[in-house]
Amino acid sequence: MYPWIYTRAKEQPDDLALITDNERLTWSALYTKAHELASSWAPLLSRGDRIALYGPSSSSYIIAVHAAQLLELTIVPINIRLSQAEVHMQLQQADIRFVISDRPIDAPVKRLPFHVVKPAPDVLVRHMPKHYIQSMLFTSGTTGRPKAVEQTMLNHFSSAMNAARHTGSYPDDRFLVVTPLFHMSGLAVVYRSVIYGVPLILEPHFSPNKTITWIQTEHITHISLVSVMLDRLLEAGLRRFDLRVVLTGGGPVPLPILTRALDRGIPVMQTYGMTETASQVATLLPEEAIRKIGSAGKAIAPTEIRINRYQEIEVKGPTVMNGYFANPEATAAAFTADGYLKTGDLGRIDADGYLYVLDRRSDLIISGGENIYPAEVEAALLSISGITEAGVVGRFDPVWGQVPVAFIVSTLSETDVRQEMERLLAKYKCPVSYFYRDTLPRNANGKLIRRQLKESL
Ligand code: ATP
Ligand code: MG
Repeated sequence: MYPWIYTRAKEQPDDLALITDNERLTWSALYTKAHELASSWAPLLSRGDRIALYGPSSSSYIIAVHAAQLLELTIVPINIRLSQAEVHMQLQQADIRFVISDRPIDAPVKRLPFHVVKPAPDVLVRHMPKHYIQSMLFTSGTTGRPKAVEQTMLNHFSSAMNAARHTGSYPDDRFLVVTPLFHMSGLAVVYRSVIYGVPLILEPHFSPNKTITWIQTEHITHISLVSVMLDRLLEAGLRRFDLRVVLTGGGPVPLPILTRALDRGIPVMQTYGMTETASQVATLLPEEAIRKIGSAGKAIAPTEIRINRYQEIEVKGPTVMNGYFANPEATAAAFTADGYLKTGDLGRIDADGYLYVLDRRSDLIISGGENIYPAEVEAALLSISGITEAGVVGRFDPVWGQVPVAFIVSTLSETDVRQEMERLLAKYKCPVSYFYRDTLPRNANGKLIRRQLKESL
């Protein structure tokens, strides 16, 4: 394969590639900028070097992503919401010497800006080895220290191809990105946009009203969201408009939110995936959404899924990572003897082949021999109007081993919540204690960090 931006500029030079608040770039303009940037880096960097990207979503960020591919560099996107100490640690963990950044960094690295500093002779465009490590992305750090995942060009290409076939791909598609580019869901869309040749509309700061305006005025067809965002968009009056694919993932989406969206005809597609699989493993299509509500759909062929005897989901396919960077132990522990990735998530597959993601293996609560999935209890809590956030974890109990306890953001009294929960769920699944909070701990992707709740017990 040639670098994707090169091929795209050759095939559709005058078509729109990137739209931001103050720019509209064609594929040829985007390619020219990426090529200039790559040329200016060429005297300093060579094939296989790792460069960190540290900055907010912007057209320069996307140009840097393409420039890196032109030089066969590995990009290491860093979460801008991390503390300086955490940034430092990730730069070290990824063994980074160069950081492309719009702000000073307190670390022993060389900093380069996102724009061209000094023009240099043009780099030559050449074919890329498909197993080259195109990116190293950190996992969200929901269950522990973030891990650096090595993703090849083929992983990303396969991911884009699988998604296109599964959810459909049309020449008039238009992608809106409101999730950060330093996580899989955002970065995947940058690659899909260039591989399919459809424009990407970039919004660096998620706000429900602005997002709805983009969807309406730019005839957006695709958007990826996490459930908190979808909830806020529904609140702000989101309608179908021209939307064809509203991917929701990154964590469980509570049924009431899904139902509310489907009732308005919004084509929500619950999807399951992770950094280690370069995005989607399974996705539920809208036509199946009512019949199989709560499911993450079927595995996207040729990716295969199976459930092991511990009820853990295992995945094999062309999007699955090489391994974790410089961590052969963690890599070995992540795979089965026959090459399946152990996801750490629990799930079940129904008779029709649909996957239901239950919860993380590490968060499972076993109470008196019964399995309790925190996600199920949280979903029940969230279905009660007056509860806006919920987090459930297990607490040691001398009789039952563990019992569920809940952290909630709510205006209701504990008695009312208890009563309502006993109506919704089996007694053993009902939280034994409730802790009221103003907010719950979430990571940059909006995911609940249950381990922090547990630590606060
Ligand atoms: P870490 O691995 O560092 O703990 P993380 O697993 O949250 O962080 P990501 O790779 O960003 O990092 O997220 C993937 C995880 O998100 C999956 O393994 C799964 O636990 C959860 N997830 C994704 N999609 C869904 C879904 N549809 N339903 C339930 N959980 C999901
Ligand atoms: Mg994970």
